[in-house]
Amino acid sequence: MGKWCRVKCSCSNRRPLPGSDISNYSDYLKSIKKPRLAKTEQEWKEKVRSVFECGHRSGNAVEFWPGDIISLGQALEIAFRSTPQEFGIFRRIADPENYDDELLKKSSDESAAWLLETQILNEFIRGETYLGWHPKIVLDREIEQYGFLYGNLDDVISSVEMLCRASLTNGTSIEFLL
Ligand SMILES: [Zn+2]
Repeated sequence: MGKWCRVKCSCSNRRPLPGSDISNYSDYLKSIKKPRLAKTEQEWKEKVRSVFECGHRSGNAVEFWPGDIISLGQALEIAFRSTPQEFGIFRRIADPENYDDELLKKSSDESAAWLLETQILNEFIRGETYLGWHPKIVLDREIEQYGFLYGNLDDVISSVEMLCRASLTNGTSIEFLL
């Protein structure tokens, strides 16, 4: 679950480069008037396809597959079932009910709150903040069962921090797409 997440950049020249909207290489070749000036497929993938004038691919400061973040949110939902106030942002992102037309937007104000949540989660995992023994045991068990596809729990938390910081820096939302 979870197809993509992104934070749009706020660069003043956030405009697609001419021809960057062409999504396959053969169409790109057809669009080039002087074939000898055409880029190789590799160059086209790196420097033309989806590239914006500001240099951000698709105009996004950050974008990646958020499946591991959603798995973590589901684990927190199970671990803290009886205390709905804990880790509310993680849990809302993991619940498709909260998506509107397969999209969930978190404003940059919420990014500050989410950063705080990741800090508390870090402390909880390390045993520096006590939020109950039972949730800790359940969370450890759930995380063990899921296994993350890209790295470990620290990597997942870092990826959340990266989203939040990009959102705060650019003043743009974090968007999740189902
Ligand atoms: Zn940009």
